[in-house]
Amino acid sequence: MADRKVLLVTGGGRGIGAAVVRLAAARGFDVAFTYAGNAARAAETEAAAKAAGATVLALKADVADPKAVAATFAAVDQRFGRLDALVNNAGITGPKATLQESTDAIWEQVLRTNVLGLVACCREALARLPQGGGIVNVSSRASALGGGGEWIHYAASKGAVDTLTIGLAKEAAAQGVRVNAVNPGLIETELHAAAGMPDRVARMSAAVPLARGGSAEEVAEAVLWLLSDGASYITGALVPVSGGR
Ligand code: NAP
Repeated sequence: MADRKVLLVTGGGRGIGAAVVRLAAARGFDVAFTYAGNAARAAETEAAAKAAGATVLALKADVADPKAVAATFAAVDQRFGRLDALVNNAGITGPKATLQESTDAIWEQVLRTNVLGLVACCREALARLPQGGGIVNVSSRASALGGGGEWIHYAASKGAVDTLTIGLAKEAAAQGVRVNAVNPGLIETELHAAAGMPDRVARMSAAVPLARGGSAEEVAEAVLWLLSDGASYITGALVPVSGGR
């Protein structure tokens, strides 16, 4: 359908990004999304979004690679000819490590992916987004909690995402584009196992005021709301989706 808005989601193959892709499709967006390498899971997400009525473009593209980012936006231009919204979701924690245990290589990989990749996507998006367009950055409650003893490098990268969100909201307002972030808490995805802590959400749930981990779908609801007209006076906001933690 010609009047469907187009959303690009980075890291949309699994987890929170996939929930955003599926919910956006159900809410009337056509969707492009990237993934790092898991083609099977990306195909499942693509099929689900198509079943919801969306035209979908799934692209294998490492957000940490500037050439891949440029190619992603070029592919969106070619397929859809428009871009209305961007969700910067792709992110990695790196391994569990204290500051003393962490290496420069860990810091570089996490910052290149979570910060520089996001910056590159924001640049490309802002060159395209129309008046009324929106960006939502998927940050983390780790930015405020600090990640000490777990993944201080990851928390610091999300601190940069929060600050960039506040600053970019001021710059992008001039072109009528809103920029916000969500700060998820403990969310049930495969991210924790990837960092070597598969029981992390269950183990830490008791410390969450709402006494449970959250779902990717609960984060997606907040993201889609921030992109909607219902949030038309909200920009530069950091929205916790964390059960009170
Ligand atoms: P996830 O389950 O590990 O999924 C990550 C997704 O991002 C996958 O689709 C993956 O692709 C893709 N991805 C990873 N690195 C990428 C790269 N370099 N380029 C492009 N795509 C890449 O993670 P998640 O839990 O959904 O996390 C999504 C976002 O939420 C991240 O920014 C994370 O920091 C944030 N967050 C998560 C939690 C949580 O508790 N889960 C809490 C706070 C914040 P493949 O499928 O191909 O591997």
